[in-house]
Amino acid sequence: MILKIVKYPDPILARPGEPVTEFNDELRQLIADMFESMYAGQGVGLAAPQVGVSKRIVVIDLSVGKQPKDKLVLVNPEIIFSEGKQYQEEGCLSFPDISEKVSRAAKVRIRAQDGKGKWYEMDGEDVLARCFQHEIDHTDGIQFIFRMSALKRDLVQRKIRKLQREGKW
Ligand SMILES: [Zn+2]
Repeated sequence: MILKIVKYPDPILARPGEPVTEFNDELRQLIADMFESMYAGQGVGLAAPQVGVSKRIVVIDLSVGKQPKDKLVLVNPEIIFSEGKQYQEEGCLSFPDISEKVSRAAKVRIRAQDGKGKWYEMDGEDVLARCFQHEIDHTDGIQFIFRMSALKRDLVQRKIRKLQREGKW
């Protein structure tokens, strides 16, 4: 089922998600629906708060559905190591048509549980590292505009307010 994507400035996006404690059919269904919703929006990552569920769940697929092995499920994820810097364009399904450069670590190692509750660690660099950081931020209630400079954030927020006034957001 395709779920409705929550847009900025919905307050659920600013709230840290609750940890997941039960790995049941309900969770598995939510994860399947999150993948479907992410593909529908042509996104490469999606966090549960973006579909209105305040929980620490992330799905990622850099192939956008083309490579089954690229499907990643991160439950209760955390970044346990990071190094270097990168400064690249990012977008977000909760900020349609907005894309700005954001400063991130170049490499990260994450620790997370899969859909069955099994813990694993994984390294990511470049796009994957950026995706890990962007999506794990969502589970902490941090949206990517708050990783931009104050000046850029102000410009983006002004653009959104204008779109809101015109009924286009
Ligand atoms: Zn996002």
